[in-house]
Amino acid sequence: MSNGTCAHLSAITTVRQAKRRECAECVKTGAGWVHLRTCQECGATLCCDSSPNQHASKHARASGHPVVASSEPGERWLYCYPDDGFAEY
Ligand SMILES: [Zn+2]
Ligand SMILES: [Zn+2]
Ligand SMILES: [Zn+2]
Repeated sequence: MSNGTCAHLSAITTVRQAKRRECAECVKTGAGWVHLRTCQECGATLCCDSSPNQHASKHARASGHPVVASSEPGERWLYCYPDDGFAEY
């Protein structure tokens, strides 16, 4: 993970928080997840790359939505998939 910020991260002024503490895709199939991420473009909350289904990164690739925030309590950071960018807030 690089430490630089990119234009996508710089453009975030208000961080979207998870509306529900569950992966919107995993709940449909009864799958489990490890951590949750919230898309900063559309607000979808999906599972991280440590989870079996990696819905957050699949969503980022399929939709072109670059930035997610951690949905985990106490974690305040953003991640940009295309730039591998990381920023705390
Ligand atoms: Zn970026
Ligand atoms: Zn999932
Ligand atoms: Zn999205």
